[in-house]
Amino acid sequence: MESTFNIHNLVRDNIKNITPYSSARDEYKDVSLIKMIFLDANENPFENGVNRYPDPQQMSVKRMLSNCKKIDEENILLGNGSDEVLDLIFRAFCEPNKDNVITLPPTYGMYSVLANINAVENRKILLSENFQPKVKKILDTVDAYTKIIFLCSPNNPTGNSFSEDVVEKLLNKFKGLIVLDEAYIDFSSKESWLRKIKKYPNLIITQTLSKAYGLAGIRLGVCYASQEIIRILNSIKPPYNVNELTQQRAVLRLQNRAEVENEISQLISERKRLKEELECCVSYIEKVYPSDGNFLLIKVDDANKRYNQLLEYGVVVRNRSTQPLCENCLRISVGILEENLRLIRALKAIQ
Ligand SMILES: *Cc1c(COP(=O)(O)O)cnc(C)c1O
Repeated sequence: MESTFNIHNLVRDNIKNITPYSSARDEYKDVSLIKMIFLDANENPFENGVNRYPDPQQMSVKRMLSNCKKIDEENILLGNGSDEVLDLIFRAFCEPNKDNVITLPPTYGMYSVLANINAVENRKILLSENFQPKVKKILDTVDAYTKIIFLCSPNNPTGNSFSEDVVEKLLNKFKGLIVLDEAYIDFSSKESWLRKIKKYPNLIITQTLSKAYGLAGIRLGVCYASQEIIRILNSIKPPYNVNELTQQRAVLRLQNRAEVENEISQLISERKRLKEELECCVSYIEKVYPSDGNFLLIKVDDANKRYNQLLEYGVVVRNRSTQPLCENCLRISVGILEENLRLIRALKAIQ
């Protein structure tokens, strides 16, 4: 695999030799000993904290991530949420009306939305009954135009992680790109695949600050991949895709690892408590699926009915019952202690 894989065979022709937009801040780096003045970007010069364009390469955020994840800055690309990162991947590698991708429902809805927006065929191969990828069926579906397989692990909405074996097989046998979405990895007992980026040149990992890091409102998604892949994505990203306020808040949060870790461990222990309580004490809950995320998928007697009853108690959950393999399933995010108590009270009240 390593010897034959060449990322440039996968890039769209129009992207291969693209000249990226060169912003004023890209051209000049403030490295001189003289105090520079910046009259190059037509900004308003009166300082207010955000009157300047943000760093298009987000170096202070990348430095923090690089330290904390033990990975080189050259292997990182940031986007306006992982949604932008995923869109960039489509646009770099998938030729509209020609190429195709493979997704594994039930899974995160954005892969399918982005495939549609980019006019890329989405070949859906359902997960198995125990929510694992069907490797043979996936590989049989691959053809010369299959560019990407999307894996979400831990998977949303099912909550489970994919077995290492299965991921490894796909990485070894598929000659296109594997996008592994690790949005929930911080809640998982399984290790991230970050360390395998050097070994697998076809592996792209996405993570986000929206979940465990508690920053959904700032929109910051992260992509980890080989330098070659990062270079290609960099050449097509909008220059100022991550704004200044987002960069500042991300740095502050990444400096506060202890607080993040503390919240994660509280959520994990709440998840466990919630699961036990739902299993023992609510009669119409038929199954609480194991979860490596900050949510639980439960199977009930009648999802629409229970969903509406919970609304009357002021509790909003996600009804996933229209998803394949998720008949009568609700997805419930783990809240803070008080919220979880209120959820349990509501669930019991509607028995
Ligand atoms: C929530 C979530 C994301 C996060 O997307 P952002 O755009 O970074 O907020 C990504 N992937 C999955 C599977 C998710 O559930």
